[in-house]
Amino acid sequence: MNKFYFSKNNLSNLINLKTPVKNIVYKFCNKVTSKMHSVSTLIQGQNMSIKILPALDDNFMYLIIDEKTKEAAIVDPVNPTLVSSAVEEHKVKLNKILTTHHHWDHAGGNVEMCKKFPNIKVFGGDDRVDELTNKVSHDELINIGNLKIKCLSTPCHTSGHICYYLSGIDNDSPAVFTGDTLFIGGCGRFFEGTPEQMYTALIKILGSLPDETKVYCGHEYTCKNLLFGMKVEPSNEDIKKQLEWANNQRKERKPTVPSTIGDEKKFNPFMRVHESSVKDFTGTNDHISTMAKLRQEKDNF
Ligand SMILES: [Zn+2]
Repeated sequence: MNKFYFSKNNLSNLINLKTPVKNIVYKFCNKVTSKMHSVSTLIQGQNMSIKILPALDDNFMYLIIDEKTKEAAIVDPVNPTLVSSAVEEHKVKLNKILTTHHHWDHAGGNVEMCKKFPNIKVFGGDDRVDELTNKVSHDELINIGNLKIKCLSTPCHTSGHICYYLSGIDNDSPAVFTGDTLFIGGCGRFFEGTPEQMYTALIKILGSLPDETKVYCGHEYTCKNLLFGMKVEPSNEDIKKQLEWANNQRKERKPTVPSTIGDEKKFNPFMRVHESSVKDFTGTNDHISTMAKLRQEKDNF
């Protein structure tokens, strides 16, 4: 297998490829990915269930199911073959794609998805999203059967990045699908934005969601993120515990998603820029400079 296509260092090249070439690369990737990075996992709820589906080297796709109506939406379906199998397995009516951002490893399956599911609607916040039918903006609402999704505009990783907040019902906790904005223990690179924008995204927008909100992110990067967290705050016991847990999960190819917003505030340095221990590491005083320096340190970690 030619690993060149999966290298994150070459991702920026892929992002800039014209669509036909991207599709060739994407088909190639799907064909050769025989062993998935994680096992598919169902988080069964009373009213809503979420199926965690692995894709490529370390991406996640998420099938959101309204248990009452069996209507469903899929987040970032870069591997349509696996999505189709999950749709059949759970006997759901899939009619929406929620795209977090235009990068190939998130939106690269949209063209084939539209062929497999002819009337499907493609939601996203950026004209660069393949097959976009419904351009959304901050606070816009989307229904999946009885479920309610609120779009959260979080520009920085890309200028049109959207996180999708799924409201809780009865005993089912809310959930947020964070793409490449918030990762478990980390955050995405600032490709098209500023430290101030990431501060707004992580602290003001995502940080104000209820603590019990489950976090479903775009990549399985948790262990490396937490190792960086240990470097930032060597005496943070929550990071140590989470790293030990994450290492055990990964030994069995179990995903480390979801965490919760409350958990992230304990072990994610990028959500802890107000803490003196984090500021001591970066040698900065204000929270925006701390965010900037943290990202710079992580980029070189
Ligand atoms: Zn990305």
